[in-house]
Amino acid sequence: MHIAVYKEMMGSDMRLAAKVALCCLLYYSGAVGFFRRFRKRKGGEIKILAYHDIGPQSFFNLQVPEKVFESHMSYLSESGYNIISLEEAVELLKSKKPVPADTVVITFDDGYRSVYEHVLPAVRRYGIPVTVFLSTGPVEKRGPLFVDALAYAFEKTGKERLDLTPWGLRAYSIANAGLKERAGLEINDFSKDLKTEERRKLLQFIFEKLDVELDPPELRNRMLTWEEVRISKSQGVSFGAHTVTHPSLARISTEEAGEEINRSKKMMEERLDSEVKTFAYPYGSAKDVDRKVRDIVSEKGFSCAVTLQMGINNGGSDLFMLKRTCVTNQLRGPLQALSRAVFAVEMSGMLSCLGRGNRG
Ligand SMILES: [Zn+2]
Repeated sequence: MHIAVYKEMMGSDMRLAAKVALCCLLYYSGAVGFFRRFRKRKGGEIKILAYHDIGPQSFFNLQVPEKVFESHMSYLSESGYNIISLEEAVELLKSKKPVPADTVVITFDDGYRSVYEHVLPAVRRYGIPVTVFLSTGPVEKRGPLFVDALAYAFEKTGKERLDLTPWGLRAYSIANAGLKERAGLEINDFSKDLKTEERRKLLQFIFEKLDVELDPPELRNRMLTWEEVRISKSQGVSFGAHTVTHPSLARISTEEAGEEINRSKKMMEERLDSEVKTFAYPYGSAKDVDRKVRDIVSEKGFSCAVTLQMGINNGGSDLFMLKRTCVTNQLRGPLQALSRAVFAVEMSGMLSCLGRGNRG
């Protein structure tokens, strides 16, 4: 391994260890509870959490292991958080009434099957309202998102190099998890500028180069089926739209963006026989959502739209640019036993007050 990469990985491990130690100190000393009581007097803010997939960790950190997710939900429901649905949050923000302290909304992007397997039981157990944003293409076609297919190919391959110079990218070393993650992030970002058919061809190229079977059953079953969506909905899960093919909307034409938004809304309404009022922008960063995209969504009959731009929401927030906190999982192995303490500190906002990074 290149020495600079090794040093950087060690550095990030040290920072994570320091952060976990600090969180444990703040949580088990009771400082978090004290801080929350102090903040309660202020109230007025809604935090919207954005989960993706619940399950074994891949190198993108977007999978939150089942036990970690369970620790998050039990903490929220046992610690006096005011967990409301996204629809209630929109009404509250519109009403300009005071927002109760510690108000939280829980959302899931993309429509992974783990929603049915792991989130639905939590919805029943804790009576927690959740909203799931579906990309209708992967659900309809029983196919994975680009990022999951890429992660799968990297996980299964025995190869240590991936030459993507024919695509105008680099030749990547993928000899370990850290290098795979770096390459994966760069390739995934590159794929945002490709048309759907080109993205498919790039995946096919990668799978061939890495000598991994294309279209395996594991990938075909990654996303929810319509039947699972209907059952989840009947048990209280709310569903919002997330386009058809999951493009970065700011990088495609106004017509294409309008089509992606319209078609996903219409298909969901047909399949679920009810109106779809909420929307999540794919990828959701400032690069993926511009004014043009925001205006298109606001004219398509939705009551709100959520980004993946970090922050909290209050009476002055634009309902079509709501901010969220993306929940990732950086804790591996035995450290996962401390996920409750880390989550409690992150939810309290104490780390940002202390001027430290908070990835949510
Ligand atoms: Zn998404």
